Amino acid sequence: MTQELHHFIGGEKVKGTSGRFGDVFNPATGEVIRKAPLATAGEVRAAIKSAAAAWPAWAATPPARRAQVMFRFRDLLHANLEELATLLSSEHGKTLDDAKGSVTRGIEVVEFACGIPHLLKGEYSEGVAAAVDCYSVRQPLGVCAGITPFNFPAMVPMWMFPVALACGNTFVLKPSEKDPSCGLRLAELLIEAGLPAGVLNVVNGDKEAVDTLLTDPEVAAISFVGSTAIGQYIYATGCAAGKRVQALCGAKNHMIVMPDADMGQTVDAVMGAAYGSAGERCMAISVAVAVGDETADELVKRLAPRVQALKVGPYTDADSEMGPVVTRESLDRIKGYIESGIAEGAELVVDGRDLSLQGYEDGFFLGGCLFDRVTPGMKIYTDEIFGPVLSVVRAKDYDEALGLVNGHEYGNGAAIFTRDGDAARDFASRASIGMIGVNVPIPVPVAFHSFGGWKRSLFGDHHIHGMEGVRFYTRLKTMTARWPSGIRTGAQFNFKSGSEH
Ligand code: NAD
Repeated sequence: MTQELHHFIGGEKVKGTSGRFGDVFNPATGEVIRKAPLATAGEVRAAIKSAAAAWPAWAATPPARRAQVMFRFRDLLHANLEELATLLSSEHGKTLDDAKGSVTRGIEVVEFACGIPHLLKGEYSEGVAAAVDCYSVRQPLGVCAGITPFNFPAMVPMWMFPVALACGNTFVLKPSEKDPSCGLRLAELLIEAGLPAGVLNVVNGDKEAVDTLLTDPEVAAISFVGSTAIGQYIYATGCAAGKRVQALCGAKNHMIVMPDADMGQTVDAVMGAAYGSAGERCMAISVAVAVGDETADELVKRLAPRVQALKVGPYTDADSEMGPVVTRESLDRIKGYIESGIAEGAELVVDGRDLSLQGYEDGFFLGGCLFDRVTPGMKIYTDEIFGPVLSVVRAKDYDEALGLVNGHEYGNGAAIFTRDGDAARDFASRASIGMIGVNVPIPVPVAFHSFGGWKRSLFGDHHIHGMEGVRFYTRLKTMTARWPSGIRTGAQFNFKSGSEH
């Protein structure tokens, strides 16, 4: 029986009225297991109104009280980790361990948000002029909205709303219509943690819902995570409507393998980073740039049998190392890229296309694929494939490898594997990339630092979570105050320097 999902508005489950639904699949079996209602503009406006009505009281709630809600939310997330991970895997397809890891990454952002009283402390300068003090505070923006992708249906929303709420904003979340259940469950847990109704609302939907959030005058800020084409549209439309927008987008993450790298460590790292979560991570390594033919030969020789032996299976099998991709449409798109790679002359060393799992013939499974001798003009190099496909590119030296990283349109993450401190330091300094790993394949920053790419991997000024998150979800106000105890300055008609107030 297919379950019909709902929206979550004003602290309550609300049935969709549009009559339009998005199919939510179990990617391992190919079955439609749930139907997500796709909100009308009116339903989205109801969620915005609910958030706007809840804002004044929530903004006036002392930060330490807001933090207490976050502390209780954290405990509930731990208590419900297994359930959340199972829900996540059932709609996304990733392995249970991987799902738990991603929820735990989200919990770490909640832990960061628990420190909000300290994070919101302002600055104070006493006596900047005679009897004049200057101080600044950060105040919440109002109603903020989050539009999130399918690949991390719990973690990415938790990059956003814990920080936004802790700062004193209210929030409308529009999760991916492909796997919306985690977003709904997180909202319920927050109510259980003591969050007042209306402070966090969840609307399911597609472009109609997103366009309403982008243009409604009561929405002050938009956080988006998803593909570059949509992110650029979100950024342009949201900014044109006068909103603060951050849009974290697509990626093509390179790993440079230097001739002196520890090859055993490198191959282990590539396996997890390229094929974990079936490559559906914005920080997945999709290009390994081997410096020198000997390095490339050794890398490919060691990788090929490992890729061939990947245990691909459903999340219900504890031995699975990699699950299916999210939809049949994704599977077909990825297979199209594999065909284009072959047609453009890359060498397909491991072909995962014929994988078939007994009992799961209708699932969206694809075995790991490995291409060698990929060159920069090929579509499999330029485009984000977002599947379990790794391209090995051969560079003659480090400078050529760095040139590839810096020449690519995306700049999310990149890693270098080497024992050479000079090369590592030079790479960290000169790569045009937002997040760098040195012998770390997926350099996702911890929650108290901030996540974000460069170039066409991010539109906007702020990265997400950490102090950048606090800055994004607050605005600075600066007061200059004189308490005159008998001081007369007389009327002043000229603009004064700071010390002459
Ligand atoms: P997507 O862009 O298709 O969807 C993201 C969100 O936008 C969803 O909520 C979706 O409903 C909405 N959306 C889709 N089409 C829209 C339209 N025409 N108008 C308005 N809204 C629309 O992305 P996805 O396939 O769900 O996620 C995968 C992408 O997300 C990859 O490109 C990946 O790199 C990226 N991603 C980036 C980061 C990062 O931090 N940079 C993190 C995770 C995922």
